[in-house]
Amino acid sequence: MRVLLTGGSGFIGSHIALLLLERGFDVVILDSYANSSPNVINRINTYLDKNDLRYKIEIINGDIRDKKIIDNIFLESIKQSKNIDIVIHLAGLKSVSESLNNPLHYWDVNVLGTLNLLLTMKEYECYSLVFSSSATIYGLSDSVPISEDHKISPINPYGETKVAIEKMFFDLYNSNTNLWKICSLRYFNPVGAHPSGVIGEDPVGTPNNLFPFLTQVAIGRQKLLNVFGDDWDTKDGSGIRDYIHIIDLAEGHLASIDYLNSKESCLEFINLGSGNGYSVFQIITQFESSIGCQIPFSIQSRREGDVAKCYADISKAKKLLGWTPKRTLDQICLDGWNWQIKNPNGYR
Ligand code: NAD
Ligand code: UDP
Repeated sequence: MRVLLTGGSGFIGSHIALLLLERGFDVVILDSYANSSPNVINRINTYLDKNDLRYKIEIINGDIRDKKIIDNIFLESIKQSKNIDIVIHLAGLKSVSESLNNPLHYWDVNVLGTLNLLLTMKEYECYSLVFSSSATIYGLSDSVPISEDHKISPINPYGETKVAIEKMFFDLYNSNTNLWKICSLRYFNPVGAHPSGVIGEDPVGTPNNLFPFLTQVAIGRQKLLNVFGDDWDTKDGSGIRDYIHIIDLAEGHLASIDYLNSKESCLEFINLGSGNGYSVFQIITQFESSIGCQIPFSIQSRREGDVAKCYADISKAKKLLGWTPKRTLDQICLDGWNWQIKNPNGYR
């Protein structure tokens, strides 16, 4: 089976790529390297070679906004009698603050990029799609756990672009309910790394997110962790989130492919999280105990746009996809740390 994986050299995409290749899929990666390094692909190749695995990978360096490039991928595939069977679409921009400063860029890359892709898929009669949506579309609600029928009310342009894309899926699916097969996966907080330490999360500049910041404090790249608020309405006053091991998340995509293959047509919006909520203090304590270190931290005021609690109801993913996250918070800390210690400066 041939998969087009957009954004395949990014944090999430690289882990999905590795799993797909290990399981015998023929993978075409389209990435502009706007937020990733070509080294990622070398790492994946080296890992698979070392494990004596045969694999089929093709890399296209290009921008999702350039429709000709997408057209060409489908055209070349047909010429080689290796049609693209399914698309996993992750290419896009994901920084909330950047989206507030430069909203049009986010609409351009995320929404227009997706529109281009859907137009080409339609032209070449490829109707199966797995998409990377986000829990950010649920907005400022604290009513947890969050299920898929929760109110959609994004509070920043990044979230708005994900909602617009989901609306596009809705209209497209309803235009012919016998044709399209789409899973829009709403990720919560993907963290950790591949257990080998060959690939992991490598944010550009100072990390915005808790987990990469924490591992950078542990390795000495950051002095201390700022805890954004200890006065939230939670058991210890710090914010609660749903951290899911990146390999569990990647496995959710393989389960989605199986699900789409079993259907004549469908459109499903599905949460992918661990289903558990952990506070910032719980994460610090678990990380310290997993790797045996002390994390210096300082309490700061609340971060704008944060909520007290956000974690997923994952019963739909369990039921539809037959998928359950298997890895513990301890495993997340160990694998995240293993990646950080083996790659103190990421891919650089
Ligand atoms: P990432 O930035 O590591 O990966 C995105 C990839 O897309 C990068 O390799 C980047 O170079 C590529 N890209 C960006 N613009 C492109 C363009 N115009 N053309 C082609 N490629 C382009 O991010 P990630 O964490 O792997 O996220 C992947 C997807 O999952 C994104 O769509 C993101 O919105 C979504 N998501 C991520 C999270 C998270 O916490 N990481 C949570 C929810 C949803
Ligand atoms: N957080 C923190 N310090 C940081 C980064 C994040 O205390 O340096 C907190 C943040 O306020 C939230 C939780 O950690 O309660 C998770 O934040 P992250 O940005 O990783 O995920 P998101 O809030 O986008 O779900």
